Amino acid sequence: MAVPHTIRIVGDPVLRQRAEEVVDITGRLVRLARDMFETMYAAPGIGLAAPQVGVQQRFFVYDLGAGDGQQVLINPEIVESDGELEFFEGCLSVPGLHFDIVRPAAIHVTGVDLDGNEVSFEADDLLGRLIQHELDHLDGILLLERLDEDQRKEARRAIRQLQMRDAEDDADGSSRRSFFGLR
Ligand code: ZN
Repeated sequence: MAVPHTIRIVGDPVLRQRAEEVVDITGRLVRLARDMFETMYAAPGIGLAAPQVGVQQRFFVYDLGAGDGQQVLINPEIVESDGELEFFEGCLSVPGLHFDIVRPAAIHVTGVDLDGNEVSFEADDLLGRLIQHELDHLDGILLLERLDEDQRKEARRAIRQLQMRDAEDDADGSSRRSFFGLR
């Protein structure tokens, strides 16, 4: 079965815009969230934000594969953060690249779940990192903007190589992919 959505790749302007608050949890949003899980599992990934499938709404889906299963967090806000943690981070919209990025180690997050219930919980480790990463997507921020100067150089080089590979693919007509760009 075909994957419902194409994941937008760095260079796509939709990834640079601030998404809008969800006002109503409509049937359309519920279906979209379900489709986003399918897209995420196929990638494969553990988190996917609405802007990554071209939808300017403040929510994301995630599944850490342990215990809690599928989660949807709507209009999330980090109300408190604590400590520092270096974590090897990647992004489905920046394929193939991973970087050690320092962010707060623990956060307190509030939001709404898919049933419209308010949620409020603490997250650290992988979950804490995932939520901070996905929330960045809702603000139009990619992990590339969290890099230090050396990592940024490395990222530019790697993205140029991806671009060249894409250009070669295009030349023999075997594939067409999004262009890449780094601010
Ligand atoms: Zn991402």
